[in-house]
Amino acid sequence: NSLYSSSMPWFGMDIGGTLTKLVYFEPNDDEPEDDKEAKVLRKIRHYLTKNAAYGKTGHRDSHLQLDNVEIRDKKGSLHFIRFPTAEMGSFLQLARSKGMAKLLTTVCATGGGAFKFEEEFRTEVNMQLQKFDELDALIKGILYAETHNRTECYYYENASDINLSKKARFDFSQPYPFILVNVGSGVSVLAVRGPTDYKRISGTSLGGGTFLGLCCLLTGCNTFEEAIQLATKGDHTKVDKLVRDIYGGDYERFGLPGSLVASSFGQMNLSDRRQSVSREDLANATLVTITNNIGLIARMCALNEKIDKVVFVGNFLRVNPISMKLLAFAMDYWSKNSLKALFLEHEGYFGAIGTLLLA
Ligand code: ADP
Repeated sequence: NSLYSSSMPWFGMDIGGTLTKLVYFEPNDDEPEDDKEAKVLRKIRHYLTKNAAYGKTGHRDSHLQLDNVEIRDKKGSLHFIRFPTAEMGSFLQLARSKGMAKLLTTVCATGGGAFKFEEEFRTEVNMQLQKFDELDALIKGILYAETHNRTECYYYENASDINLSKKARFDFSQPYPFILVNVGSGVSVLAVRGPTDYKRISGTSLGGGTFLGLCCLLTGCNTFEEAIQLATKGDHTKVDKLVRDIYGGDYERFGLPGSLVASSFGQMNLSDRRQSVSREDLANATLVTITNNIGLIARMCALNEKIDKVVFVGNFLRVNPISMKLLAFAMDYWSKNSLKALFLEHEGYFGAIGTLLLA
């Protein structure tokens, strides 16, 4: 019953619309020394755990690594790796060059790509994909991370003032019920009432993919990191039409402050406004537009379901405190403190973690 037997699921993979997330479980106890399979595995293990970058576009998020965690009675470390799904061809080549095809392995996989790339995995690297539903995997992964990592869940203190708001630990050991908002390329909203009791209640196609796509179009940037950097330096009020641009101040009767966005991108019909706006402003406005729309949908879902905890996950939130603070603010402000926005450290990796547990 070696961990490295061909049936043991030691990789969990979530092949999404934009990013492929790979979780690798490295057992604490040493693998058997002698047979040929063990040698190849040792080489792969060394390659995965000793590097932080793979090929041109693969990255290991070493800050997320979880040590001494247990999966199916084995203790070990979980390593978190991602690469763009568009680079699947190079990934398979790399896996092949490391000897993967010499082993007959089963990989637990989820996400649309588990279907789309199934044949390639089999022919290129001799890998069988054991497929799981992505929402089942997502929830399993979240519950696992919460119980195995004390500092997994957090919220923003002083959310009502974005300049003062800061991360604080949240005790999520009694999670149910909660709304789960997964912001990937697109967005799914689930109501979760128990470990297996959940439903998908809503979604929107205006998600992380939309932010990145529009940002590339509007600013000429090429990566998510660049888009976020630009957004950090920009000012959306140069792009949006605010309540005060229309009213000259607050719309008092309905309690709408002048600083509120009345119309996203609403100034961009005027050519002089277009002239004076920077790439940074456009990036910031795109980020704020997409984030606020997701916040609004999340809040409506929470109200409808009468659930007060809203958990946001997905790689859209990666290196993106602007959106997290904005979501925290929006939940707090519009619900008069009755809703709470929560976040999880392993933001985009829960589906991949979950497949390891469903197997
Ligand atoms: P999916 O499963 O649909 O690929 P993810 O949860 O992985 O969804 O999130 C994808 C989104 O994360 C992108 O649309 C983008 O907004 C954001 N993102 C974060 N980091 C990156 C990156 N390095 N490359 C591309 N998109 C990224």
